[in-house]
Amino acid sequence: MQGTQGGGIGPGLSPVDRRTLLFCNFILAVAWGQVNFTGDQVLRVLAKNEKQLSLLRDLEIQKPQKVDFWRGPARPSLPVDMRVPFSELPSVKAYLKSHGLAYSVMIKDIQVLLDEERDAMARSRRLERSTNGFSYSSYHTLEEIYNWIDNFVAEHSNLVSKIHIGKSFENRSILVLKFSTGGPNRTAIWIDTGIHSREWITHATGIWISQKIVNAYSKDHVLKKVLNTMDIFIEIVTNPDGFAFTHSMNRLWRKNKSIQPGIVCVGVDLNRNWRTGFGGNGSNKNPCSETYRGPAPESEPEVAAIVAFITGHGNFKAMISIHSYSQMVMYPYGHSLEPVPNHKELFELAKDAVKALYKVHGMEYIFGSISTTLYSASGITVDWAYDSGIKYAFSFELRDTGQYGFLLPASQIVPTAEETWMALRTIMKHTLNHPY
Ligand SMILES: [Zn+2]
Repeated sequence: MQGTQGGGIGPGLSPVDRRTLLFCNFILAVAWGQVNFTGDQVLRVLAKNEKQLSLLRDLEIQKPQKVDFWRGPARPSLPVDMRVPFSELPSVKAYLKSHGLAYSVMIKDIQVLLDEERDAMARSRRLERSTNGFSYSSYHTLEEIYNWIDNFVAEHSNLVSKIHIGKSFENRSILVLKFSTGGPNRTAIWIDTGIHSREWITHATGIWISQKIVNAYSKDHVLKKVLNTMDIFIEIVTNPDGFAFTHSMNRLWRKNKSIQPGIVCVGVDLNRNWRTGFGGNGSNKNPCSETYRGPAPESEPEVAAIVAFITGHGNFKAMISIHSYSQMVMYPYGHSLEPVPNHKELFELAKDAVKALYKVHGMEYIFGSISTTLYSASGITVDWAYDSGIKYAFSFELRDTGQYGFLLPASQIVPTAEETWMALRTIMKHTLNHPY
């Protein structure tokens, strides 16, 4: 909801009334308007060594909620991207300089990108309304996505159905699309997008891929074989409350929206709330942190719903959880450096997936285990999947590597989805050919 839109000023009003009304509209816009990021920058820091990385980690402790890591301090070979509010820029830049940390300005003014994104959505919405269509190359609100789901399921009821697996903290429906050619409780593949609500490219990719599955089913022999044996489940909006909030109030919101009595900060990082490794390295017990793990494993309804569904089903063989950004394909573990029993197979499969992805548009992805490729992260989806017996568990980080970060232009939705699809198809094919 945007407080400034709609509601023209009536023709019968006096100039004073008009001014009063305009003023009231302005006040409403300020009161209900979205968080404004004018002048906020994303800085890219290249840490030379572990000591410099820990100086960056200290920043989060020194300036909680002031520095928002888009790519957290991981290892010296990986850049660190952080959003710094306009008011904090002088002190943060001074801190970096005083410690000899080299940085560049990756995004000069976040609000400029947000305005462009909002304008593109408005243009696309007008076109969709006039043509009664749906644009796969645009970003959409939760309501638009849920409407699309209903139309999509109605149009392809022979292959797709919609399942409610639970309710979010704010009581929104949690929906999963099921692609099936029949048969009770077949082996299955799980894909989720949008567990971090600001990663809009992932929801858009999930939508495009759903459409791809119904369109390609009769033509693509690999997909046909997969769907003649297995079911595919896709949860497009894994964090509906957070996603709704990214549209209404704060485009850069990551966590869910749960509140706890006596705690001021809102939200739990749903990708730190899973039972496996809960509370370990790379998760935070501070409720104000962006990686806050929550009060207990599976405390969040959005996580508990998936756990109940997958456990109840009992026949999932692959689980792929999709994030952005950084261009990576990774496998367990995140909470430990210990290699998983089939790590060689997962390494080869990730390599094949990345190769298939590269062939589409020449995008380079890196791959490996989460803890060795990225950083330690505990209580995450794919570690839980693996320890629950789903041995083909992968986590993707989609485009880009930092030019736009979470604000990837809509013009990149289709190419991103096309290449991601080929990587997913590779994993599906391998899962089909290696039954267990
Ligand atoms: Zn994420």
